[in-house]
Amino acid sequence: MVHGPLINELAVAAYLGGRADPSPETLVDIVAGYDSVMPLATGDVEVLFELVLGRMAMNLVIPEARAALFPDEPSYDSDREGLLKRIEDALMAQADVENTLRRALGFPSSAGGGSTSELREGRVASLGHHSPHFYAEPLHVATAEGMWIHGADGMSYLDFYNNVPTVGHTNPRVVNAISRQQAALNTNTRYLYSTVVEYAQRLTATLDHGLDVCLFVNSGSEANDVASQIMKHRTGANGLLTMADAYHGITEAFSEMSDGELMSRSTNVASITVPDDFRHAPVAPAQAGEEAESAVGRIKEAGHELAGFFIDPAMTSSGVPNVPDGFINAISDVVRAHDGLVVSDEVQAGFGRTGVMWGHQRERFVPDIVTIGKPVANGQPLGVVVTRREILDNFMKQTGLFSTFGGNPVSCAAGLAVLDVFENEGLVANSVAVGRYLKDSLIQLAETHSLIGDVRGSGLLVGLELVSNRDNKTPAVSETALLIELMREAGVLVGTAGAHRTILKLRPPLIARPQHVDIFIEALDSCLGKVDRQRG
Ligand code: PMP
Repeated sequence: MVHGPLINELAVAAYLGGRADPSPETLVDIVAGYDSVMPLATGDVEVLFELVLGRMAMNLVIPEARAALFPDEPSYDSDREGLLKRIEDALMAQADVENTLRRALGFPSSAGGGSTSELREGRVASLGHHSPHFYAEPLHVATAEGMWIHGADGMSYLDFYNNVPTVGHTNPRVVNAISRQQAALNTNTRYLYSTVVEYAQRLTATLDHGLDVCLFVNSGSEANDVASQIMKHRTGANGLLTMADAYHGITEAFSEMSDGELMSRSTNVASITVPDDFRHAPVAPAQAGEEAESAVGRIKEAGHELAGFFIDPAMTSSGVPNVPDGFINAISDVVRAHDGLVVSDEVQAGFGRTGVMWGHQRERFVPDIVTIGKPVANGQPLGVVVTRREILDNFMKQTGLFSTFGGNPVSCAAGLAVLDVFENEGLVANSVAVGRYLKDSLIQLAETHSLIGDVRGSGLLVGLELVSNRDNKTPAVSETALLIELMREAGVLVGTAGAHRTILKLRPPLIARPQHVDIFIEALDSCLGKVDRQRG
């Protein structure tokens, strides 16, 4: 008796089926039939075709071996030439058959599905001409793991940009939690189940100031929209204060609030200048308070009252500036004096990103509402509004707001798995340590590259501002655009922020290690050199 991986049995069965009929359809039928009774794992699908090829190759060598061992026995009748031809044909068809197999079984295609040019055409045909993508030539991605995204071009890209897969791409703990919960139960919060309660308890245990009840939605935008509804309900007002260049989401409430080329502002929204100690003198808290007063004044002049203030504590979309000590607190004081509520939008700044669990803890202000999205469930849609009991109870009594998918067991299971990984792997401390190493390495790199104007940020949220001239701090617009493309060619993904898109926004998954920083710095060093040479 021998023990071997079970997948060998299927490979032999598929091989035997192929002897009767070598068409790919037969192989797919056999494997799909098996999979319907004994579901295959990803690893099974990866090795299956090669095992079938291996079994064919055995047919070449078995007759030879037997002839050598037992020369007196009659030899096997083997069609060597025919078999070699079959193996050759199978090798030629391997990629196609494997893709057909993956599709038939519901596994994602290993090569990202179809050719890149076909996919581009298909995308324009079905998503329209203006569906945005990164890079001049969009990056065709296939699979991912940890810090790496694997392209359909066979290249692996170090991910220094995506803050959603915070515990690493395809983290197995999260993947298993999602699939096990999906296999057991997925429903909505109108029924009683434990996952959502357990998750809410674990999540609110990381917050203080009486922020201990949750309302679950599916995205950062929804969380902010609900927060704005809560504000307006509570205050009976609709005036909103925000930072210039802020981004809070896609719903109608925020298309009026988010500064962007296509977004227009309404008179009930006023914004505050983003502090910029790279170009200007540091802003004292008192100055921020005065600016908040005058912004509230503008809202009132236009005939509105103040409902509250939305703040991303890291001001990520505004280019990750150094936020002066007491800056947000000074604005919050003004907002409270006008009976407004303070919302800390932690969609980007939260969850250990800046080296503390929450951005408002780092900036030491007390929010009435916290909104959470992006990284909390490592990519499974999950948005959360956390507030004080009395605020939520009043709002819910009046509205009974309910979201079908918000707080579903699968998203909560993913959220719980992320919290487990955070605790087990000490990711907040890792964010501090690796973030420090990243910043130090960048400051050192600035000594040899005059394009680097400023390095700032904390934890694993780092802003790198590029200037074409250090004396007058001219934003390096074309240089940054080129750098992003060169970094992609060098196998590193980064993105930009700020009004001129000249601030590299570095937000790697929080599992990043010093060796990933080293790879990133080496690529950046070489690409900055290329940009310099192209400038002449
Ligand atoms: N708030 C902030 C600070 C964000 O950065 C974003 C997304 N970039 C959002 C809210 C909106 O989140 P979502 O895209 O999940 O709706």
